[in-house]
Parts: sequence; C-alpha cells; structure tokens
Amino acid sequence: MELDNLTDEVHARYQKLLRDENSDPNEWAYAWRSEYNRGGFKAVDMLMREVVTPGKCVGCAACLTICPVDVFDYVEEKPVDTRHDACVFCELCVDVCPVLRPVDKDLPEQIKLKEPIQDLGFGPFNYGCFVRVTEKAPKFVGQDGGLCSALLIHMLNEGDIEGAIIGTEVSGNPQMGTANIATTEEEIIAGARSRYTYQPNTVALVEAMKSDIKPIAVVGVPCQVDGVRQQQFSSIRLDVAKWYQENIKLVIGLFCSESFTEDGIQSLADDLEVTKAEIKNINIKGKVVIQLDDGREENKSLKAFGKYARPACLYCMDYAADNADIGLGGIGPDGYTFTVIRTEAGHEAYQSILKTGWIEEIPMDDEPKARDLLARLSKYKRNRPLPALMPTLEERIEIGNLDPKNFYKGWVKPGTENQDQEASS
Ligand SMILES: Cc1cc2nc3c(=O)[nH]c(=O)nc-3n(C[C@H](O)[C@H](O)[C@H](O)COP(=O)(O)OP(=O)(O)OC[C@H]3O[C@@H](n4cnc5c(N)ncnc54)[C@H](O)[C@@H]3O)c2cc1C
Ligand code: SF4
Ligand code: SF4
Repeated sequence: MELDNLTDEVHARYQKLLRDENSDPNEWAYAWRSEYNRGGFKAVDMLMREVVTPGKCVGCAACLTICPVDVFDYVEEKPVDTRHDACVFCELCVDVCPVLRPVDKDLPEQIKLKEPIQDLGFGPFNYGCFVRVTEKAPKFVGQDGGLCSALLIHMLNEGDIEGAIIGTEVSGNPQMGTANIATTEEEIIAGARSRYTYQPNTVALVEAMKSDIKPIAVVGVPCQVDGVRQQQFSSIRLDVAKWYQENIKLVIGLFCSESFTEDGIQSLADDLEVTKAEIKNINIKGKVVIQLDDGREENKSLKAFGKYARPACLYCMDYAADNADIGLGGIGPDGYTFTVIRTEAGHEAYQSILKTGWIEEIPMDDEPKARDLLARLSKYKRNRPLPALMPTLEERIEIGNLDPKNFYKGWVKPGTENQDQEASS
C-alpha cells in the first residue's frame, strides 16, 4: 500500500513537471531517478498508466528487454505486465521509455559521434552517400541498395559480430515480420527487404542476452534505435544495461516516416484482388509500389494509404534515426540506399565493407534534392510537441484524427517557423 502511494507520488511529480512550462524536458527523468537511491517504486505501474494504457506506446520493446525479472510479454505491438508482481522496483522500464522523455543530453558523447560533425537537419553525421551492392557481394534482393544486409553479412564473415537483431517475414504473410536474431548469412538474407508494418526486431535482444550471443548488431526503425540507446546508456547501470552497452557493436537505423497496419496491407490486397500472401514486396517512393508474386507491379496513392498509418507513430519525432551509428533509407536514386554515417562505430563498419568491393557509392552532394528532402522530412517530424505532451489515443479518437502524419499539419511549434509540408517517402 505504501508502495502504491509512492508510485502515485512519483507519477504526480512527473505530471507536474509536464505541466510546468518552465521545466526542462531533459530533467523530467529526475521525477523517478531521485527515488532510485531510496529503494525505488513500482515503476511498471507508472509506465502502464502514463504510456501504455493511454495508447501512447510506440512498441519499441525497450521496457520489456531491459526488465531484469521478465515482467512483460509483448502482445499486439505493446508490453503487457503479465508478471506484474515480480517487479523489483529497479525503475529501468520507465528510464528507458522514449515516450516519457527525450534521450539524455549526453547521448551524442556516449555514442561517440565521428568528428567533424555536420548537421544539415537530419541529425548529426560525418558523411553521407548513396550505396548499392555490386556483383562481388553475396546474391540477395534488398529493399533499396541492399547495404543493410550486405553490411551485416560482412560483419558476420569478419567475426565482428556473432549475430544481428533483425526481423523475418511471417510465413504466408510476407508484409508482416517477427523479431529474429540472425547468426548466419542465410538468415540475414531471409530477413532482407522492408516490411512497412511494425516489426518488433528489438524483442530478440532478450534471446541474444540469454544465449550470450555477442557482439551483436541491431537493425531498427528510429523508435527502436532510441529504445536501444536508452538501454545502453541508462543512468541506472544494472547488469542488464551493461550487457547492452558492452555487446551492441553497431546500431543501424532505418529512416521512417511511419509504419502501417496489417489492415492497410489487407486493403491493398483487396484493391488488387489478390491475397496478402501474394504481395511480394512494398516500397514507398512518393507512392505505394506493390510487387506481386505473378511479376506485376502496381502503384497506389500514398495519400489514400495514409489512413492506414499506425496511430502510435504520432508519438515519434525521429525520421532519420538520429541516434543510430548508421542511418539508412530509400530516398534518392532508385536501387540505392541513402547512407548517413554518424559515429566512429558506423564509420569503422562502413569503411570495412567498402574495402571488399561489395558496394559502390554516389557522393551525397551529387543528389542535393534527396539530401534536402531528407532534411525537410526530418524537420517535419520534429515539428511536433514531445510525445509526453501530446493527446492520448482516446483524446485523438474524440477529435476524430488518428493520422500521425497530418495530426499536427498546419500547427506551428512555439518558437519555430512552420515546417509543414507533404512527406513523400
Ligand atoms: C516501417 C519502415 C518505414 C520506412 N520508411 C522510410 C521512409 O519514410 N523513408 C526512407 O527513405 N526509408 C524508409 N525506410 C527504409 C527503407 O525501406 C530501407 O529499409 C532502407 O533503405 C534500407 O534498405 P536496404 O536495401 O539497405 O536494406 P535491406 O538489405 O533490404 O535490409 C532491410 C533490413 O530492415 C529490416 N526490416 C524490415 N522491415 C522492418 C521493419 N518493419 N522494422 C524494422 N526493421 C525492418 C530487415 O529485417 C532487414 O534487416 C523504412 C523502412 C521501414 C521498415
Ligand atoms: S514505448 Fe517502448 S519502452 Fe515505452 S512502454 Fe512502449 S514498448 Fe515500453
Ligand atoms: S514512425 Fe516512429 S514510432 Fe512509427 S514505426 Fe517509425 S520509428 Fe517507430
């Protein structure tokens, strides 16, 4: 009972900070961190009340993979506190949740950005280029230039990693994916290409840790990248956080405007009078490009497909995976992966594959339109209030707008000019 009161107290302290216009969001975490030396509180309750129940959970799985006593299951893209009574008051689940607060200010130092650092509006980076695999690389079909999978295979071959946290398509439902830790070239190839639904790669971190598969690389969309970074560099340094810090060698972030629901995939299948299983691949290039098993390629309007955007993606302000070691996306020339090298680890991995002749590149500045588009799309997502200050899912249902891309359209973030525009990828 006393513990319940303490949880209420910490929660109330946090909410007071949210309401205080003069509070610094980087200090919101002290609402719970100040309890740590006093034995902690039932953080799982606060996480459920503040993030999951109000529908604000982005599904990154960080709370689940950091929990030292396995309190959570992962069901329908969110954590469920199945073993709630097992909680040991460590506070890690709230400390790693990217919805509750922005990442710590010292994260750029922690991830060791490569100098000199540039920032053109899509997060700090050292250099960028457009990359595709060559004939010398193993044969596989990637989503864009195939750099992501080629780099993972190369790192495995070199012994730089023992496994890669990726995802693999669900059998018979190829636009849905499940988390997987790939330890062979074949498994990496099986996971290649993008599924534009939510694929919770990072859930596989638990298996990597339990099986002591290390070092590892992690591939994820930006919300997953932030969840991983919060786990690696949480100020609460329990063994589990240390394992991630010591053994995650490379974090590859995929650019992401939003992901879509399975209903959206079903609607495309219905429109084309095929089954979901017959949709071989989807790419988004200002329009929805659908490849079917029978070889046909069909295009659909991205604007119309927008109604199937995943509502939880509103609570995400990162397009270009600003906190990854390497950011990858499909903007730019067809068949190339837009590649942004951010950190020392990213540089080392990229230079290593470059030496093999497996990839060829176009300098970023040769494609200024793509570079500028990336900056615009990134700014567009950043031009939102912090997730903790946004309306809940229920409030959005009442307002009648669940569309993450357009919810803040026309809205001007105080102190900024309006960066409103159409997102095209
Ligand atoms: C949901 C989603 C939205 C995206 N939105 C954009 C965008 O708005 N603009 C843009 O430029 N690029 C976007 N991308 C990135 C783009 O689709 C490619 O993933 C990227 O260019 C890398 O291509 P590649 O050929 O190098 O990767 P590949 O070698 O084909 O490897 C792709 C990797 O991504 C993993 N993966 C597949 N689906 C998912 C998923 N749903 N979640 C997490 N990991 C996954 C695979 O397991 C594989 O490891 C998005 C990707 C996803 C998954
Ligand atoms: S956003 Fe991530 S860390 Fe926060 S509750 Fe959801 S799954 Fe857990
Ligand atoms: S938009 Fe953000 S929350 Fe949604 S899938 Fe992409 S990275 Fe995750």
